[in-house]
Parts: sequence; structure tokens; C-alpha cells
Amino acid sequence: MRLIIMGPPGAGKGTQAAFISDKYGIPAISTGDIFRANVSAGTPLGVEAQRYMDAGEYVPDEVTNSMVRNRIAEDDAATGFLLDGYPRTVAQVAELDDMLATSGLTLDAAVVLTVDGEEIVQRLLERAKTEGRPDDTEEVIRRRQEVYAEQTAPLIDLYRERGLLVEVDGLGEVGDVTRRVLAAIDGATKA
Ligand code: ADP
Repeated sequence: MRLIIMGPPGAGKGTQAAFISDKYGIPAISTGDIFRANVSAGTPLGVEAQRYMDAGEYVPDEVTNSMVRNRIAEDDAATGFLLDGYPRTVAQVAELDDMLATSGLTLDAAVVLTVDGEEIVQRLLERAKTEGRPDDTEEVIRRRQEVYAEQTAPLIDLYRERGLLVEVDGLGEVGDVTRRVLAAIDGATKA
């Protein structure tokens, strides 16, 4: 199973990604998590990525693309994977298409979690109190929403046109959203 999960910052992608990963026995690959691990470890990639992340901007495509290309070439991704937070730009979609085509593979579904804008700003401000991510200040949160609307929201139509889109309402209890997500993926991939 090869899946991607999209949705605005704060939609709960990472939370749902963990459940999807468990159910299908595939690694959940979060570009945000990989960037944060590199920032913590002080690697050159982390140093490069941090200034973009702190400002709520996307890390340049070349940097992100090569990171994902290497990650999905690892052994644990051989039988499938769930990409959380990638692709986020039209150029990243083209790159992912190329990575898959090279290996004769295709995506099974593109899950999008839909959530109201103001609701997620509030969620992220709550998360900031406990997790303390440096990009969870109100100003940066609002910038991340704008960047999502400009650069990533158009991908929803693109995957819809390909017949791969699985839209799920991301509002409500985590368990309810998980049930909806898993049922929607099953429905879309059994057909
Ligand atoms: P969120 O979805 O809440 O913004 P993530 O953890 O997915 O959080 O991403 C955090 C940051 O990492 C993004 O704001 C961006 O700077 C960077 N990032 C993650 N994925 C990508 C990507 N596919 N392309 C460019 N930048 C990315």
C-alpha cells in the first residue's frame, strides 16, 4: 500500500498517520519529523531547513525531494509507505511521480483531512503549550496556513482528477476520525 496524507497544518495528519501505519504495516514517513530530527542533531540539512521552518515557509523543493527519494529507497519502505507532509507543491508531485515510475509503482490513494481554518489555529495554539514547537507561534501558524492554501491546497484537485482523492472530515474525536480515515481508505483501495 502506497499512500499520502495531506491537510492543513494542525489537521491531525501525524496522529492519523500513526494509525494508518499500524493498520497496513507500512512506515509513516513525515517530512516535518525528519526535518525536526535533523535540526535537533544539528546536521547540515537541519541547519538549512531550520530557517524556513521557523518562518513557516516551505523548505526548498530540491532539499525535500532528495531527502524523500533517499528515505523511500530504504528497506522498510519496499512493500509500501505512507507519506505525511509530502508532496506539498506541484513540483514535489512531479518528483514523486518520477520516483514511483522509476520503480514501476503507483500511489493507491491520497487522503486529505479537511478542517476549518480557525479551528486549527486554536488547536495549534493549544499544542504549543505542551509540545513547544518553535513554529507554533500565532504569527508562524497563520503563515503556515497561508502557504498551505497557496501551494498545497491546489494538489487536492490534482489528486481528485487522478481519481485518487479520499476526503475525510478531520473534525471530532481522534478515534472517530481514525475510524473514518481507515474506512475511507479501505473503500477506496478495495474497489
Ligand atoms: P505542519 O503540517 O503542522 O506545518 P510538519 O511537521 O508537517 O507540520 O512540517 C513542519 C515544517 O517542515 C513545514 O512548515 C515546512 O517548513 C517543513 N516541511 C515539511 N514537509 C515539507 C515539504 N514537503 N516541503 C517543504 N517543506 C516541508
